[in-house]
Amino acid sequence: MSDRADRYRTVVGGAVDRTATRLAAVTTPTTDTIAAVLRDRVAAVDLDRPLGSAEAAVDEVDDLVTAEAVWFHDPGYLAHLNCPVAVPAVAAEAVLAAVNTSVDTWDQSRIGTEVERRVVSWVTDTIGFTAGDGVFTSGGTQSNLHALLLARQAATRAGRGPALDDLVVFATVSSHFSVRRSAMVLGLPERAVVDVATDAAGRMRPDDLAHAIADARRAGLTPMAVVATAGTTDRGCIDPLEPIADVCDLEDVWLHVDAAYGCGLLVSPTRRHLLDGIERARSVTADFHKSFFQPVSSSALLVRDPADLRRASWHADYLNPEDADEPNQVDKSLQTTRRFDALKLWTTLRASGGPAIGRAFDRVLDVAERVHDHVRRHPDLVLVAPTQLSTVLFRWQPDGVSDVDADALVGPLRATLLAEGRVLVAKTVVDGRPTSKLTLLNPETTVDQVVASLDHVVATAARLHHVRVRGRAHAGAHGAPTTGADR
Ligand SMILES: *Cc1c(COP(=O)(O)O)cnc(C)c1O
Repeated sequence: MSDRADRYRTVVGGAVDRTATRLAAVTTPTTDTIAAVLRDRVAAVDLDRPLGSAEAAVDEVDDLVTAEAVWFHDPGYLAHLNCPVAVPAVAAEAVLAAVNTSVDTWDQSRIGTEVERRVVSWVTDTIGFTAGDGVFTSGGTQSNLHALLLARQAATRAGRGPALDDLVVFATVSSHFSVRRSAMVLGLPERAVVDVATDAAGRMRPDDLAHAIADARRAGLTPMAVVATAGTTDRGCIDPLEPIADVCDLEDVWLHVDAAYGCGLLVSPTRRHLLDGIERARSVTADFHKSFFQPVSSSALLVRDPADLRRASWHADYLNPEDADEPNQVDKSLQTTRRFDALKLWTTLRASGGPAIGRAFDRVLDVAERVHDHVRRHPDLVLVAPTQLSTVLFRWQPDGVSDVDADALVGPLRATLLAEGRVLVAKTVVDGRPTSKLTLLNPETTVDQVVASLDHVVATAARLHHVRVRGRAHAGAHGAPTTGADR
């Protein structure tokens, strides 16, 4: 055995063993070590005084970093759109890092390029594109930027058409912030992203979209793209894709569907219909590192017409000359050197297939439905909005607690829970009010486990509220004036 192979086996094998031991011992999503201690421990490491061996460095990582990790597979992790990972994909990650394939050109990857192309065509088939194409990206943010770049190139006819100042993108207030930031990156003016009105559930209203497009045209502006979201990050709602596609077809406007969150529905045995109409999009964002249970990073931008991807192509003599015989993925990507992330989804599909992924996402959505029922019935909780996916927007507000007091508690509640490390929740703003948020994305977490976590959230909220009320009474007894800071 060569030295290199030997070192690979011992060092990487050692890291796998240590990580497996940590995994087996996890009982909370993170620890209660305070932030200052974490900072001090990292600062205390002298990066200019190496430990002298790979084993020692791996040991240090285990003690210093892995011991303090945030674990997305723990049932108490309920904060953001992070998933426990499919084990075949983790194995593929170890392979692709060891081989170090870069899928930018065919000659650097050969079969890797073939695998990526095959996975992409599997995804475009599940979308329902008849002859689609696409490329893996680092995440939904990059996929959205890439889609809007292609739409901009189409709308401006590669620089010969309307000025950037005259372009308009239609989205909603619930669209991912990367839509607005992409517009900024692409040189569009701030007013370029127009918020289309939403219905009570937070979904784009197609009638208002039609009006907004007409208004823009009347003002002499050029509609560049409509961004429909298939699974908004906060509410988990899906914009009505068919009627939106009708408007886009009629108006001849680029439809981009941001399915970063909802893409798991593509393989759901029971809920695929929620994405009906997605095949009419011109481009789609899918985040496999969300609802396909893939390790970060794994995302793709998919297009209905392969020619659209060429709108951002660039050719370098040394890399991908225009007359190259080989299929070079760099022609389609905004990156050059690029990870072979497609191998992870490939391995997952080969291990258990798409329907198994869909069933796992279905389990999450089933649990979310029952948690919604639980919150609706809970005397101390208010369900703030329904979901079509797996978020739970709620507020702790028993009878007699004012809106002001309930709102004021949302931030401290999240911070207190994070400091304890037992149950991690998120916070957001819905209709102008601070709101607590759970994002369920663990197919192994049961309703009972989420209910137990909510019990802890309720108990913590009650405790924080009583401390606040007592503090206020105390201040009142001493004749202190009621200040704005009190609210
Ligand atoms: C998460 C998310 C994104 C951004 O994806 P990243 O992979 O985090 O870059 C975009 N759109 C929606 C709807 C999302 O939920």
